Amino acid sequence: HAKAAGGSAFVSFRAQMQEGLVERLELENDLRAALENHDLRLHYQPTVDLDTSEVVGFEALVRWPHPTRGMINPLDFIPIAEATGMIVPLGRWVLHEACRQAVEWSAAAGGRPLKMSVNVSVRQFDQPDFAETVAAVLAETGMPADRLCLEMTESVLMTDTEANLEQLVRLKALGLTLAIDDFGTGYSSLAYLRRFPVDTLKIDRSFVERLGGVLTGDTALTDTIVRLGKSLGMATVAEGIEEFGQLAALREMGCGFAQGYYFSRPVPAAEAGRLFLEGADTPVETSV
Ligand code: C2E
Ligand code: MG
Ligand code: MG
Ligand code: MG
Repeated sequence: HAKAAGGSAFVSFRAQMQEGLVERLELENDLRAALENHDLRLHYQPTVDLDTSEVVGFEALVRWPHPTRGMINPLDFIPIAEATGMIVPLGRWVLHEACRQAVEWSAAAGGRPLKMSVNVSVRQFDQPDFAETVAAVLAETGMPADRLCLEMTESVLMTDTEANLEQLVRLKALGLTLAIDDFGTGYSSLAYLRRFPVDTLKIDRSFVERLGGVLTGDTALTDTIVRLGKSLGMATVAEGIEEFGQLAALREMGCGFAQGYYFSRPVPAAEAGRLFLEGADTPVETSV
């Protein structure tokens, strides 16, 4: 009996595995087609200067409007793009589109500077010609290098440090800004912060979540990260602000910039463009 039950369980497990594989292959093919047909989209989430409450820039976040499955989130297809290597052309497209858009918005706002942040995967960063790719995109789009910020997770900075350091130096030489994304969640050693030419710490949402409550201990880690950034001469950006209490706590700590649903969700290009144009007159905070 036990054997029969085990056997059938195994068969159904295998059937499920196959279903999973088929679905995965389907997604992979669809993603390849979406990339070729320019069906991917970028949404943009504003970055707010906590001193002035102005929108000073955006983070580009890729979206995949799938013909039958609806909008697919990056966490569900970036891993496929990474595993297949598609992330390299996909990432180049994201970079190009985000820079093109930033130049357009800035021009529409009479040249008002706009900082654009783009997420970079380890696999992209590891391409020996990545810095050349970025340089080419800047030239193609007319984007001033100092208005581009590349966001990388701590894992990029931690692996194979010599090659990574060279790559970071090449990127910095272009004149752009480098940020550590989701700071505080990785297996980071603080030593690399001194070693690598990084400009900005993006404080992970998991820290921000605990701010504004009654437990003072919950603010200690965030406060420490903000101080760390300051003492290293780095800018600090808090991710995932959803409530006024969190905003107030971060201001108190002297955090420089913030993003989060409290200000705006990531929005399609047209809406983001409006946010930026209005942003000079109306601080986004008062319009929420
Ligand atoms: P990330 O770079 O840390 O981006 C922040 C994520 O948090 C975004 O999710 C954003 O929509 C979400 N978020 C922002 N504010 C709030 C908030 O107040 N509350 C909550 N609960 N969430 C908030 P999204 O767009 O789904 O992107 C997820 C991740 O996918 C990104 O995390 C990034 O690692 C990756 N990703 C997105 N676009 C790209 C891309 O073009 N290239 C690469 N390589 N990765 C990307
Ligand atoms: Mg990011
Ligand atoms: Mg992040
Ligand atoms: Mg995050």
